[in-house]
Amino acid sequence: MSRWDREDRIKVQPMKTAVVTGGAGFVPSHLVDLLLAEGLRVVALDNFVTGHARNIAHLAENERFEFREADVAEPFEVEGEVDYVFHLASPASPIDYVRIPIETLKAGSYATHHSLELAVRKKARFLLASTSEVYGDPEVHPQVESYQGNVSTTGPRSCYDEAKRYAEAATMAYHRHHGLGTRIVRIFNTYGPRMRLDDGRVVPAFIGQALQGKPLTIFGDGSQTRSFCHVSDLVAGIWRLMQSDCGEPVNIGNPREMSIKEFAEAIALATGTQTGWKECPLPEDDPKVRRPDISRAREVLGWEPVVAFEDGIRETIEYFKGVVGAEKASVTD
Ligand code: NAD
Ligand code: UDP
Repeated sequence: MSRWDREDRIKVQPMKTAVVTGGAGFVPSHLVDLLLAEGLRVVALDNFVTGHARNIAHLAENERFEFREADVAEPFEVEGEVDYVFHLASPASPIDYVRIPIETLKAGSYATHHSLELAVRKKARFLLASTSEVYGDPEVHPQVESYQGNVSTTGPRSCYDEAKRYAEAATMAYHRHHGLGTRIVRIFNTYGPRMRLDDGRVVPAFIGQALQGKPLTIFGDGSQTRSFCHVSDLVAGIWRLMQSDCGEPVNIGNPREMSIKEFAEAIALATGTQTGWKECPLPEDDPKVRRPDISRAREVLGWEPVVAFEDGIRETIEYFKGVVGAEKASVTD
């Protein structure tokens, strides 16, 4: 052995491995892209219940990427060393989790346990994708992490909200009982390319309707508010949180708040369409306001969103133009 061999061995940093559950979904597939760009090896698991293979198709030739079709609500194993477990698998759109409430409960409960167990076996660090829904219909505005929420335990959203609250409790129990390194990100409304056109969330719904010449479906009077974060900002925050030493929950979202009526006007302007809007019934338990307080993310992670709403929406509209065009072509084929 030459001395160069020895020095090289010392210098070479072993490649880190990340497991991403739900890896073929909207947010998780962007996280996978970021982790690969950071030089990690990534193993993604998904059962395609709400995700799609097209979200990871561009990674087929990447030697550091591995995909496995698997339901993580069932026990699962990953071969070899694992440094990070990102648990993102869960239906996330209100129409999805009302359609598949049992799968949603299992994603927050069983799937969280199996992902935590993997992290314990591998001595890996674990991150839970939680949600602003743990605050329910908030009485504290903007929402700060210390707020404990106003959540219905029995309403139509409870299968998601309570599953995520349980998942946070499970994460903290593994931290306290096993000494596992855990991180919890509370994600606020996020948008960007790879959302499903038909996932029912307001961003794809309004953009799709505007591009197809249909009136925008405003639920209720449109006075309820949301704050929209571009997916690239979100995944940058998630990666920073995973690398930080912060074991407390951290809000990641964009504090720019607008009413749904204002959002509809912004989409009409950005798409250059005048299809108008129609008032539809407001779903039960729809939160009236939502805006993250991101002081903790700023202080602990040095993170804040950088993508302006107008720029992010323009990019997302371009993405959906492609999707709508492809759908039209397949209908006329
Ligand atoms: P998504 O539906 O696009 O992605 C979720 C992925 O998880 C899908 O690919 C789905 O097939 C997969 N999945 C679900 N259950 C599974 C199971 N049992 N086994 C394997 N795979 C499974 O949704 P998204 O918007 O990308 O959300 C991703 C995560 O971020 C979710 O945990 C969600 O709760 C959280 N989150 C998202 C938002 C947002 O605005 N997008 C807001 C708050 C929280
Ligand atoms: N919304 C709407 N029209 C739609 C879809 C949603 O007015 O076609 C409203 C919905 O009632 C909610 C807001 O837009 O007040 C955001 O809904 P979304 O499903 O995107 O996310 P969430 O309710 O989980 O924040």
